[in-house]
Amino acid sequence: MPRPHTLKIVEVFASLQGEGERQGEPTIFVRLAGCNLRCRFCDTKRAWTGGHPASIEALAAEALRLRDRTGAGWVCLTGGEPLGQDVSPLARKLRTEGFRVQIETNARIGRPVPADWWTVSPKPPGYGIQPVFKRKASEVKLVVSKELTYAAVRRVRAAFPASTPLRLQLESNSRASLARALDLLERAAKDGLPNTRLGIQLHKILRLP
Ligand code: SF4
Repeated sequence: MPRPHTLKIVEVFASLQGEGERQGEPTIFVRLAGCNLRCRFCDTKRAWTGGHPASIEALAAEALRLRDRTGAGWVCLTGGEPLGQDVSPLARKLRTEGFRVQIETNARIGRPVPADWWTVSPKPPGYGIQPVFKRKASEVKLVVSKELTYAAVRRVRAAFPASTPLRLQLESNSRASLARALDLLERAAKDGLPNTRLGIQLHKILRLP
């Protein structure tokens, strides 16, 4: 008998989407274990290793339970790096159940997955992405860490269509990150970089999970 498809999971929980264009929307988060990168500023280092195996059926059942409780119609597959595992069967199952699926990815792994919203977050040092994400991205997010230079902002902005919003995302809402973000934003505005904005982490301000 074939073994059921399982994924390594850190946690499943309901909250509000705290970042990006979907900020404030009730969302169920499925945090997958493992990441192909090791960013200094990572705020989910606990997802780099470990996790527990969960079947697609069990994950869908948990999402349905949380939807019954909260009304959340979106599921965000995040990590770690969700594309490090084959999440397509889970995304398909969730969409069959009427969810919309968001994927938050560092975009270094070009795995095709059926999804409704792609949050593409290139990471240092190179801020490189697989080319397929240039047209897939619904939004682009750059964490304003000390590694983020204005040259990198310009390069990433130029890699995507002008209609794709780019957010300079504060690192843990810190004052130093805010000062850096405002400086980058001013330079971007003066240079006429399109669709470039400041991003905050709403869930951290509101102390939500
Ligand atoms: S890509 Fe994301 S999850 Fe992975 S190390 Fe960097 S910040 Fe953390």
